[in-house]
Amino acid sequence: MKTISILGATGSIGQNTIDLIARQPDAYRVVALTGGRNLAQLAQDAIRLRAEVAVTGFDDGLPELCDRLAGTGIEAAAGQAALNEAAARPADWVMSAIVGFAGLEPGLHALRHGNTLALANKESLVCAGALLMRQARANGATVLPVDSEHSAVFQALVGEDMAAVERIIITASGGAFRDWPLDRLHGATLAEASSHPNWAMGQRITIDSASLFNKAMEVIETREFFAVRPDQIEVVIHPESLIHAMVGFRDGALMAHVGPPDMRHAIGYALHWPDRGALPVERLDLVKTGQLTFRDADEARHPALRLAREVMAAGGLNGAVFNAAKETALDGFIDGRIGFLDMARVVEDVLHRLSADASDRADMTLDAVRHIDALARQSAWDVIDGLCGG
Ligand code: NDP
Ligand code: MG
Repeated sequence: MKTISILGATGSIGQNTIDLIARQPDAYRVVALTGGRNLAQLAQDAIRLRAEVAVTGFDDGLPELCDRLAGTGIEAAAGQAALNEAAARPADWVMSAIVGFAGLEPGLHALRHGNTLALANKESLVCAGALLMRQARANGATVLPVDSEHSAVFQALVGEDMAAVERIIITASGGAFRDWPLDRLHGATLAEASSHPNWAMGQRITIDSASLFNKAMEVIETREFFAVRPDQIEVVIHPESLIHAMVGFRDGALMAHVGPPDMRHAIGYALHWPDRGALPVERLDLVKTGQLTFRDADEARHPALRLAREVMAAGGLNGAVFNAAKETALDGFIDGRIGFLDMARVVEDVLHRLSADASDRADMTLDAVRHIDALARQSAWDVIDGLCGG
């Protein structure tokens, strides 16, 4: 029986993970489930899956969580320290699916005991890839990709020699606005940006798909995960979202990973790795599909992609600045304080303001990452205030 913890269990990735393990209740024992504000879902899943402990990341959620779990024998806990403690409990497999920077620390704790970390939280790699990978190596832990593109690359690389890899191509659906003319994007609303043409995901990543900040994050994630050079990573718009990534080898071969847009594939691959387990995902009918199309991912139209290249070239803590500025700009957009296109302006401005602090190549520590994250968030709010004229 495999022991499992799910960090971010109440979210989109967390619920897809639960869907898979709940189909084979005898194969898994659940150690920890963590969530944020959705205490009803957290408690319901903890009871259904007979988890050892349920944790909310927010201290003020503890009384309600205790009430909901009263008499079940399941431990209830709240706050950052409790999240870290739950993440560090011995388990064979830990899903890291908290959204945002908040996912970094619990992920690092999960690696302390050599657990296998299934990594959906791409922000960990963007902010602190070197730190996360060092922590995994030091503890003999394995990090498996869950982002669909990175899972696809990982699968295309099975049995291959990295020295034979020429390039990695990750695909982008193009998001909600892929067919919009550029001049219409200024007025894009929150509701329009929150609806994805192909994938059902959490709200934040859905908006990041529309702005291509998600793809920009994934370019950096590719570099951190597979240790390739930035110039080996390409992005192509593929509106059907059926090819998730391709790996090009030095003999000219391109190995593509093809499948329906269903995150349970990538989650399930990580869950059963190194084997392939049977998964309840749709089987593609290529004749019905008919066509696969591709378009250029124009960096002039998508400033997020250009900024990701600048971040990789600068190195150091620029990834942490990029992520923090992006998360804050997204908050500003969700709160209605800035427009859709302002998000990239905020991120670019913050990267320039903090370039000297962030390019210091001293050893990457959690404290250094936390420090620059806080600076970048403050700086982003200053830029947002400036844009709002207040
Ligand atoms: P959701 O917003 O759906 O879920 C986020 C999870 O994190 C929820 O469990 C939420 O709790 C919890 N959470 C939020 N804030 C905090 C906090 N401060 N402390 C502790 N827990 C918190 O996100 P997704 O599932 O869409 O994404 C999760 C991660 O996976 C992200 O990093 C995303 O980029 C990545 N990813 C997602 C994909 C997808 O298909 N959704 C695809 C590829 C990658 P609650 O809801 O209870 O408040
Ligand atoms: Mg992805």
